[in-house]
Amino acid sequence: MERSFVYVIIGGGVAAGYAALEFTKKGVSHGELCIISDESVAPYERPALSKGFLLPEGIRLELSVAFSFPPARLPGFHTCVGANEEKLTPNWYKEHGIELILGTRVESADVRRKTLLTSTGETITYKFLIIATGARATRLEEIGITGSDAENVCYLRDLADATKLVTMMGKCTGGNAIVIGGGYIGIECAASLVINKMHVSMVFPGSYCSKHFQPSCLH
Ligand SMILES: Cc1cc2nc3c(=O)[nH]c(=O)nc-3n(C[C@H](O)[C@H](O)[C@H](O)COP(=O)(O)OP(=O)(O)OC[C@H]3O[C@@H](n4cnc5c(N)ncnc54)[C@H](O)[C@@H]3O)c2cc1C
Repeated sequence: MERSFVYVIIGGGVAAGYAALEFTKKGVSHGELCIISDESVAPYERPALSKGFLLPEGIRLELSVAFSFPPARLPGFHTCVGANEEKLTPNWYKEHGIELILGTRVESADVRRKTLLTSTGETITYKFLIIATGARATRLEEIGITGSDAENVCYLRDLADATKLVTMMGKCTGGNAIVIGGGYIGIECAASLVINKMHVSMVFPGSYCSKHFQPSCLH
């Protein structure tokens, strides 16, 4: 199967969601834009995953009512609610004629022929390609340790990771957790674990958390 688009965005994260909104503001025509994402849901506000998403249900709902936030569950935090813009649900993409190809990885790109090959075996051609593949968490295996697939090992990068972490916190209330990483995400994650009544130890190489953000670094 082969499909053609004027614009193709590889990656269905924060940048893709915000770009889609801008494309519609500039008047992109139906059928011109396609987003290919290996995640199974439409673009969402990834920062929510280490914040509201990890809070116990009662606190999450209370905050949502008190501050009139959408609840930190999809479809509540699809882009672009983080910027007080429209919430781009799957239906929004349909109504604007934007093709969302989800759960599909771009395996290779031939930039001379302007052709992509996806994990479902589909060939997709484009006139303009936007690469918005973001970043990823370092896997244990990359630092010489095995065990990423263990039930009690969680990463925090995408919705599937955060959902697994919520499940684990539910099963292990009162238990011990170790957070590897002392940057923003590690700190937010540790705070959420504490709120979920876990005992938390953090491991990071510097002498304090968020070392890179010390005021001295600004000079
Ligand atoms: C837990 C967490 C909390 C954060 N909190 C904050 C915060 O408070 N403030 C802040 O400013 N930033 C925060 N960030 C960072 C912010 O989320 C990122 O800067 C932002 O998501 C980057 O957007 P992006 O679209 O470039 O990449 P991403 O949002 O990572 O999206 C990339 C997408 O591309 C997909 N993809 C990758 N390769 C392929 C491929 N070959 N084929 C198809 N799809 C592919 C990925 O699955 C993903 O869906 C946080 C990040 C995380 C993980």
